[in-house]
Amino acid sequence: MPGTVVISGCLAGLHVRYDSASRPHPALAELSARAILVPVCPEILGGLGIPRLRCRFFGGDGAAVLLGRAKVVDETGVDRTAAFLTGAEEVLRIVELVSPSLIVFKEGSPSCGLRRVDIAGTRQRGRGVVAARLKAYSIPMISEEDPLPDWLT
Ligand code: SF4
Repeated sequence: MPGTVVISGCLAGLHVRYDSASRPHPALAELSARAILVPVCPEILGGLGIPRLRCRFFGGDGAAVLLGRAKVVDETGVDRTAAFLTGAEEVLRIVELVSPSLIVFKEGSPSCGLRRVDIAGTRQRGRGVVAARLKAYSIPMISEEDPLPDWLT
């Protein structure tokens, strides 16, 4: 039986990005052939629309947001932190429902980023809100920049 992979919706080819675009994973065909894909978009699940204004962190990354030490703000200065936190909890519900073998998240996103995010206008090391929320779970997480595990190639 194929494993289940939770994947950022934009990497699965869905047009859910802030600019209504998608960013299909370079190995999407292999992924869909070898696993059951469960696309998620935490920003949509958090109540933000398509298109929507681009967001960035102030005060720290997603881990700092979870601790109440940072916030996520859109281009007009509106605080969107609550939507990002809601989206992270909704993705967590999905992860608990489907028990994935792997999570593939979009690098650089204020929700999904695994290694780098935009903090106050510059790319810095850090995690998106949902990536930080899921860090405590023992589920492998990779980005589209990482090689796929052997069972998917
Ligand atoms: S929140 Fe995640 S899934 Fe949604 S568009 Fe951004 S990177 Fe893609």
